[in-house]
Amino acid sequence: MKYCFGVDIGGTTVKMGLFESEGKILDKWEITTDTSREGQAILPDIAASIEKKTEEHHLSREDILGVGVGVPAPVTSAGIVNGSANLGWKYKEVKREMEELTGFRAEIGNDANVAALGEMWKGGGAGRKNIVMVTLGTGVGGGVIIDGKILVGQNGAGGEIGHLCVNYEETDTCGCGNRGCLEQYASATGIVRLAKKKLGEELRPTTLKKEDITAKAVFDAVKAGDETAREIAVEFGKYLGYALANIAVVTDPDAFVIGGGVSKAGEVLIPFIREPYMEKAFFANKKVDFVLATLGNDAGICGAAKLVLDA
Ligand SMILES: [Zn+2]
Repeated sequence: MKYCFGVDIGGTTVKMGLFESEGKILDKWEITTDTSREGQAILPDIAASIEKKTEEHHLSREDILGVGVGVPAPVTSAGIVNGSANLGWKYKEVKREMEELTGFRAEIGNDANVAALGEMWKGGGAGRKNIVMVTLGTGVGGGVIIDGKILVGQNGAGGEIGHLCVNYEETDTCGCGNRGCLEQYASATGIVRLAKKKLGEELRPTTLKKEDITAKAVFDAVKAGDETAREIAVEFGKYLGYALANIAVVTDPDAFVIGGGVSKAGEVLIPFIREPYMEKAFFANKKVDFVLATLGNDAGICGAAKLVLDA
């Protein structure tokens, strides 16, 4: 039996998993992300944890195929990161450092791209080779898998769907510095922004309260039949559905996999996205499925392990 490690580095914790090469998760654990001193302890901490687990499970080093790592930043195909705000990293040769620290082969990818690979392997996109994953969290993350491989691009920024411009007239600024990014409308914070605007001009009775509005509250109210909430969801769905129709003419996916905190609303979400998608999609892109992600927080470690298994 061969094994590999899947590592998902986040701003507060590093999620880690030990996998059999067939895909079974043998062990799963977390360590704290030490972002002090420009995050210089992060990779050594991961290497030490891998060393410890290798001993704990009595694995022989020859049976370990390698370590896959997802990083919250664009990662080039050479495994280089040119700065990660969440980790405090500047230029970092992550692949080389990880290989030197562990003595194992290392494969590095952007966290959202890696999560998409995980969902294709064992999650909502299982059995497919061409998927686009959209992660609706605080921001909007994305990952494009074409023929089973991550679309990395020249700068490691392939699949950054959240920064597709969907409103050329927007005056508010996105976290990236541009204006009108999809993330400003379709993330959890984007939905709150849409809701606040709507509630500011709403005259009809609604169960939604402007002061403590959340994306979850909006979709809970949709389920309860609140008309104002439904209209907010329609607006959200138009931004996202139209954007996905544009993405489809480039990527031609078999399925869109919807994940992230907002997707916890469940199946209620799907028609709000699918309807506007169908309205704008190129005819040949209409035969596509919309599915929910199923791996939750494990998508990252699964995809990271798959990076190594595919290498
Ligand atoms: Zn942006």
